[in-house]
Amino acid sequence: MNKDRATRRDVLKTAMAASAAIFPLPAIAQGTAERVVVIGGGFGGAACARALKRSSAKLSVTLIEPNRVYTACPMSNAAIAGLRELTSQEFGYGRLQGEGIDTVFAAAESVDAAARSVTVTGGQRFEYDRLVLSPGVDFRWDALPGYSREVAKTMPHAWIGGDQIALLARQIAAMEDGGVVVVSVPVTPSRCPPAPYERASLIAHMFKTRKPRSKVIVLDAKDSFTMQRQFQGAWKQLYQGILEYVSLSDGGLVTEVDPVSKVVSTDFDKYKPAVANIIPQQKAGTIAELAGVADRTGWCPVDPITFESKLQANIHVIGDAAIAGAMPRSASAASSQARICAAAVVALLSGNKPQAPTLNSSCFSLIAPDYAISQTGRYRPVGDLYTEEASEISPVDAPQNLRAREASDAEAWFTATTAEVFG
Ligand SMILES: Cc1cc2nc3c(=O)[nH]c(=O)nc-3n(C[C@H](O)[C@H](O)[C@H](O)COP(=O)(O)OP(=O)(O)OC[C@H]3O[C@@H](n4cnc5c(N)ncnc54)[C@H](O)[C@@H]3O)c2cc1C
Repeated sequence: MNKDRATRRDVLKTAMAASAAIFPLPAIAQGTAERVVVIGGGFGGAACARALKRSSAKLSVTLIEPNRVYTACPMSNAAIAGLRELTSQEFGYGRLQGEGIDTVFAAAESVDAAARSVTVTGGQRFEYDRLVLSPGVDFRWDALPGYSREVAKTMPHAWIGGDQIALLARQIAAMEDGGVVVVSVPVTPSRCPPAPYERASLIAHMFKTRKPRSKVIVLDAKDSFTMQRQFQGAWKQLYQGILEYVSLSDGGLVTEVDPVSKVVSTDFDKYKPAVANIIPQQKAGTIAELAGVADRTGWCPVDPITFESKLQANIHVIGDAAIAGAMPRSASAASSQARICAAAVVALLSGNKPQAPTLNSSCFSLIAPDYAISQTGRYRPVGDLYTEEASEISPVDAPQNLRAREASDAEAWFTATTAEVFG
């Protein structure tokens, strides 16, 4: 842990002040009508579209997103465990439209980098001077035998907002007391690395309070994970006998699923859970591959100052899809990158040199309604990648009042960040 660090409170204050303090950007040259198209209306894309439009009313900003309602993943584990209404995860685009952002509710199907154009479902074409991609993650459907897009309808991943989160919540609510939920955790890189363990914790909380004979088993494709000592300390304290953790070395790697018999197989065992939450291996959203900005890893290499793709000129990639070095794949990082990218796009369109940025990320994990831990960091570009400049993780041994304060900080962070992006 770095001594010269941003405290969690500092980072939270930064997030809460962000809408007022960070969005104003230098206006681009008046009289021009440059066109920026943004693909993906999540934490990265919506924040970027907004920051771009606020930089200059004359800038033409088009946001392409298939869904009229965005379902946020942060705090969704609480909704899955019945601690929160699913509707509190939902956000529309009315405010962005009111600010003059053209919103197209369709999926981008192709990008012609040479012609600088995007084609959406139905064939409509949009030309751009600069394109920003923030499509989030997609799954490596071929990585786990037996699992597929179709099977996810009965064994949900709940790793992308929308129906999947509601489906997993329904399955767990309907489960008989005495049943088992398996949460299968993939290898990294993946979206929000602590979130599977947060999910298992909150499901365990639900069982402790409402289905005391039930159990949650975490099958992990890894031997270690972020904030492991904090999570495992809490599990010992709160969920002994309810939550079981199986690491890679102990046989946690899921090797196959059978949607008919509902069996989840590992190298050593076969599980027949009442509910199987299978989180597959991930890669950048498919449109990144189609645009030619994803490399062989499936993720998108970018210039860390401008977020411009290293593979295609005039296309920027932010959020989970981008390779941003030490920065975690989080909503906090995505919205922070969005503002830096918007400033860079504006500078480039004006013929100015973008400034080297410092970025913040803060990630809270709820373990019980009044018990949370967190990880915050400050990052800056060194060479080609973001390097961690300062970081702080919740202490392993902390009094309950600190855990409770972090739980209310988590809620405050979510309210501030979603207001900044969609409100
Ligand atoms: C269970 C869970 C809990 C989490 N908790 C936290 C947390 O506590 N804190 C935190 O900071 N982060 C958290 N995250 C991570 C966070 O949700 C992501 O890092 C964040 O959403 C990334 O933003 P993004 O813009 O890259 O992608 P997204 O927010 O997923 O947005 C991508 C958007 O692109 C759209 N899209 C995709 N393809 C196309 C296309 N072809 N055309 C048009 N649009 C397209 C999608 O519809 C989507 O709206 C959590 C994630 C999960 C799964």
